[in-house]
Amino acid sequence: MMESQSPNANTSDPAPSQESISSNVRGKTDSAWEHVSFKVDILNGSKSMICLYCQKTFKGGGINRMKQHLAQRKGDIAICRKVPYDVRFKMDQSLNEINDKKRSEKQPMNFVDTRAHCGRNDNDDDIEIREIDPLSTHDSYQLKRPTTSSGKGKASSGLITSYFAPRTTLGAQPGIKSVLASKAAINHVDHAIMKWLCDACIPLNSLCSRYFQPMLDALVTIGPGYKAPSYHNCRTNLLKDLIQEVQMLLLGYLWLHCNG
Ligand SMILES: [Zn+2]
Repeated sequence: MMESQSPNANTSDPAPSQESISSNVRGKTDSAWEHVSFKVDILNGSKSMICLYCQKTFKGGGINRMKQHLAQRKGDIAICRKVPYDVRFKMDQSLNEINDKKRSEKQPMNFVDTRAHCGRNDNDDDIEIREIDPLSTHDSYQLKRPTTSSGKGKASSGLITSYFAPRTTLGAQPGIKSVLASKAAINHVDHAIMKWLCDACIPLNSLCSRYFQPMLDALVTIGPGYKAPSYHNCRTNLLKDLIQEVQMLLLGYLWLHCNG
């Protein structure tokens, strides 16, 4: 483990922190790092990135290459088959903004093709250095188009507050645009819910339950791969927890009644 220190130990700063994992990544403030795991091989120093959704490992390339993977842009890298829609949208938007920024720097007042959907990125490193991530990872999701946008995104400017529950990682709310942009995906989910309601003979007024939307919000925070609780777990542990919660609530009311 520790033998990776350089043999010629006369150098004053051999940068031992290189061994740590994802602690000294240059672009780690980039929102894409929320979906990518970064590892440095201690033995040979090779860096690799792992997609948190499909678990594929990629050696070499920068975070922008991973963005292409997550944005499902064909070209330099295999596309991700398991990326959630909102993540794919964010990565796609981020890549567009990088392209816009590059172009606006080179030709400030000229034609800017904001929606170039081809995955060309020859110089990842160059892009990484200059990238200013507009999707602040710890704030609400901002749908901010560069001013050089040629009109397509003009209706989407402005701050979208954290209307949706956070996803697995901090601050990774899906943007409202990403939701609106995918009517088919929403229909798909609605259809699945409806099918479940009908199949289980659940009365439709259960949709009016105040716990319905919080349940969905909680579910979304887990992200892909969440498995519903088992029948057994529901009728034992989870039911016990809930009963306890109700009892505590009643005790609270009782206390208020007696002392208030
Ligand atoms: Zn992937």
